[in-house]
Amino acid sequence: YAAKSSRDGVRAYVPDPNGGTGDRLHTMEELRTALDEGGQLLVHLQPQVDLSDGRVAGVEALVRWQHPTRGLLSPAHLLPAAEQAGLLRPLTDTVLELSLQAVAGWWESTRVPVSVNLSAANVSDLDLPSKVAVALLRHGLPTQALTLELVEDTLMADPERGRTVLGELRRLGIRTSIDDYGTGYSSLAYLRHLPADELKLDRSLTLDVGRDHRAAAIVRHTVALAHDLGLSLVAEGVEDEATGRALAALGCDVAQGYAIARPMPVDAFVRWLADRAHVPVQPL
Ligand code: C2E
Ligand code: MG
Ligand code: MG
Ligand code: MG
Repeated sequence: YAAKSSRDGVRAYVPDPNGGTGDRLHTMEELRTALDEGGQLLVHLQPQVDLSDGRVAGVEALVRWQHPTRGLLSPAHLLPAAEQAGLLRPLTDTVLELSLQAVAGWWESTRVPVSVNLSAANVSDLDLPSKVAVALLRHGLPTQALTLELVEDTLMADPERGRTVLGELRRLGIRTSIDDYGTGYSSLAYLRHLPADELKLDRSLTLDVGRDHRAAAIVRHTVALAHDLGLSLVAEGVEDEATGRALAALGCDVAQGYAIARPMPVDAFVRWLADRAHVPVQPL
């Protein structure tokens, strides 16, 4: 493995392209143990703010693996191992549990919901809606406390079943969000029948929106489409204030990105949220 450090301090381990089958098997085994025993998997939380008034609209939970010897691993390095080992469902169970535990700590005072990312293995799981409902009940949380994000491509394997699962989640009152919107296949065809509440516009489409009129045209168009369909539009990967202002001017509802805050540990987010409650609301 070759190590490199990303800007938010998450050590990314790039697997050696010249081999490493043994390493990979080892990682899968370690992940299985970590999921069984608990403690090593955690979530970092990244705020989302309403562009019209600066209020905290939600927070996204992003999985991290505090590996005993290799440091803090990012999703890019644990998700492939989880997928190969068939561990995506237990991984989601763990992330959901950690996320709901966190929200339960602030829900009464702030009503800030958490977004959890689903993988294809979850979207094809007919038991997902009842599992989620039980988890919410266990934490004494209403369904409005949770949003579930999925990328379009997770629906490709079995669109029919995916729609059933999403439809059931929405009937329960859980919001659904199409993540990395604009980067997958068949975006428009799926949108027509997809039970969703929100589109998250991928960073590759929000980048340069303040400088490039073609980028701006795509965002403006997508905002209009989302709003016509009754969906709210979240811009992700907003790295500077000028981009945030441009996205607000183009009608985006919510922004998430380094310009607002980087993903952070749960206790740091709780402090961030409390500090924010004392200052006047500040639009980007
Ligand atoms: P995503 O759901 O699109 O999450 C946003 C990713 O963009 C996160 O990377 C976040 O740290 C990063 N990001 C946020 N703001 C900025 C910004 O301003 N600039 C840039 N360049 N990047 C920004 P992260 O945490 O490495 O997660 C990567 C992906 O892994 C996520 O993309 C999501 O698809 C997946 N993922 C994360 N957690 C989970 C999980 O619990 N379950 C599943 N199934 N997938 C997860
Ligand atoms: Mg996401
Ligand atoms: Mg995304
Ligand atoms: Mg993304």
